[in-house]
Amino acid sequence: MAENPPQVRLHNSLTRRTEPLVPTEPGRVGIYTCGSTVYKYAHIGNLRTYLFGDLLHRTLEYLGYEVRYVKNITDVGHMRNDDHDSIGGPDKVEEAAALAGRTPAEIADFYTAAWLEDEALLNILPADVMPRATDHIDEMIALTETLLRKGLAYEVDGTIYYDVSAFPDYGKLSGQRIEELHAGHRVEVESDKHDPADFALWKRAGEHRLMKWPSPWGDGFPGWHIECSAMSLKHLGERFDIHTGGIDLKFPHHEDEIAQSEGALGHPVVGTWLHGEFLTMADAKMAKSTGNVIRVADLAGLGHEPLAFRHLALSAHYRSKLDFTADAMHAAASGLARLRRAVASAPDEPVDLASEPMASYRARFIGAIAEDLGMPAALAVAHEVASANALSDAQRRALLRDFDRVLGLSLDAPSPGPAALPDGATKLLERRAAARAARDWATSDALRDELAAMGVEVRDTPEGQVSAPSNRPPGRADGTTT
Ligand code: AMP
Ligand code: ZN
Repeated sequence: MAENPPQVRLHNSLTRRTEPLVPTEPGRVGIYTCGSTVYKYAHIGNLRTYLFGDLLHRTLEYLGYEVRYVKNITDVGHMRNDDHDSIGGPDKVEEAAALAGRTPAEIADFYTAAWLEDEALLNILPADVMPRATDHIDEMIALTETLLRKGLAYEVDGTIYYDVSAFPDYGKLSGQRIEELHAGHRVEVESDKHDPADFALWKRAGEHRLMKWPSPWGDGFPGWHIECSAMSLKHLGERFDIHTGGIDLKFPHHEDEIAQSEGALGHPVVGTWLHGEFLTMADAKMAKSTGNVIRVADLAGLGHEPLAFRHLALSAHYRSKLDFTADAMHAAASGLARLRRAVASAPDEPVDLASEPMASYRARFIGAIAEDLGMPAALAVAHEVASANALSDAQRRALLRDFDRVLGLSLDAPSPGPAALPDGATKLLERRAAARAARDWATSDALRDELAAMGVEVRDTPEGQVSAPSNRPPGRADGTTT
């Protein structure tokens, strides 16, 4: 740990203010990020949120903090309609397993590995702990028992609900009021809850349920929200510093986590809540459920390396929406190439970053990242350095390599071309693009099959067709998953 890490300010969703970060233990920061639900490939919208967690992680380490970073794996309990209106269902992982003719564990393992590969391609540093929900069932049952004992939860026929009316602070994060929740709920779909705003901590297993565990209330499985309370408390303790996630997790997921963790312990647990805004495409949220998605693997087919997307993500503040367009990706790729040229063209000589004018550039970079992760301003300083006449080639290189500890753009690496496709694939892709332009769907489909036989996967996106060497998800013997 550095003697005195510089003051960091962060926008706390709970207080709606940008506040100094005051760690529970001086110089050390514990961070929890809600991880992926591993039933499908992560898309670059999900990855924007994990990039934002990575930038927080890297920024704090760069500034001299000792960071303990926990990011979970949701492999059970996240239901398709996980709102407060219903018990939800089906479980996303179980549903994907049934469709693919595989076990839930096989599905979870496959998509966990795919997610982590994508993270690695985007230079997202591994978390210190990646707990799986299914490894923490005992902790979830214990927490549920505590909430029952404290009068904050009740049982109805093997299912345990949280009684939101018993927790006066309910709504403090999202600003939702219980009365408004009542008005917005479809009461009829959930007849056994005392109140439509209550939510399930533990759910009784139905007859065909595969993932289920014995509990004091019979066989069942955890709710999605209790998972993050149990895993964060176990791996970061009863008071920790920062909790992150995408903006859509603020309600109900994080509101419910606060009700559970604080309800059980009787005191605040998380110091700062941070929420990242969405990545959009054609101004609509990129979403797994609608299929309006681009994956990291698709970027090569669009002619870009994954790190160009990282540069794009750095160019927008985490609390602003970012629209994914072909133009923005091209601009990001040329920005990345420009920074890399400044590093590659310079000699690797020792440079003292504490002397002028390097110290001034560094101070500006630090000022930007420490002020609510101001990556656009930090990136602008990096681009200024890349063309600063006042700096020698070696000084430019040394500064950019130093900034790259946060930016994570592999500025030392040569810019690679797009992923290589097998011989002949490019011709077929051109013919297919022409067939689609002529609305000749039969030819287009035939060419897609021909490409698939060569091991090239083609998908149609709002940006046109994209292709990549295929990495087939687990499915039936014929490869179908539906
Ligand atoms: P999920 O796997 O659906 O639980 O989502 C994983 C993370 O991705 C959560 O933090 C979501 O808030 C976040 N997320 C989902 N869609 C987007 C998007 N379009 N842009 C940014 N983050 C997203
Ligand atoms: Zn969570």
